[in-house]
Amino acid sequence: MIITEQKPLVEILESLKGYSKIFLVGCGECATTCKTGGKDEIAKLQKVLEEDHKSVLGSCIPSAPCVAAQIKVELAKNTQALRQSEAVLVLACGLGVQSVKDNNRMGQVVMPACNTLCGAVMDAQGNFLEKCSMCGECVLGLFAGICPITLCAKGLLNGPCGGMNKGKCEVDNQRDCAWVLIYQELEKKNKLGELKNIRAPKDYKKALKPHKISV
Ligand code: SF4
Ligand code: SF4
Repeated sequence: MIITEQKPLVEILESLKGYSKIFLVGCGECATTCKTGGKDEIAKLQKVLEEDHKSVLGSCIPSAPCVAAQIKVELAKNTQALRQSEAVLVLACGLGVQSVKDNNRMGQVVMPACNTLCGAVMDAQGNFLEKCSMCGECVLGLFAGICPITLCAKGLLNGPCGGMNKGKCEVDNQRDCAWVLIYQELEKKNKLGELKNIRAPKDYKKALKPHKISV
């Protein structure tokens, strides 16, 4: 899922300076789970905007605003309110914001209410853990399912740097060194021999942005 945090209110209000009629769009998937774009957050932001003497003319929470088919349906249901709005504030990740902009035929200014942080898994305690940098050439199969691109601060592919200290990363001593984790995992699987293979530098052409993929 895509992890977001709400922007500081002062930044949101500054971005809407000069606009008094606002329409809000949330996200029923990732941003709802992150508590940045669900029902409660829409209601709280509406209150803040109204205290700032703005009118919130309407809102919607498509399950995934990043999917054109879904956001189009929700915007169409709110044509009346949108027509009178001067700005659309989107409580979702950057994908959601751009999808709203691309699919809103009325063409109002579209503003983000959130900062997009990363793609992450959610553990059983509800923590979000960044585990993949979407590099376009997955090497998890080589490293016992642990991603050195994301978990090693330097993205090293051929073993640890010289700074690892007592199993911790030299860049942040609160974190385990990714390469210690990889070593331990390969050892459990009796595959330490894998570490003798020198890995070629990654082909960064595969991570060239923007991707366009037809299904
Ligand atoms: S190697 Fe790491 S960053 Fe690349 S796709 Fe696999 S998990 Fe994601
Ligand atoms: S200490 Fe380990 S995780 Fe940190 S940068 Fe060096 S190899 Fe990577």
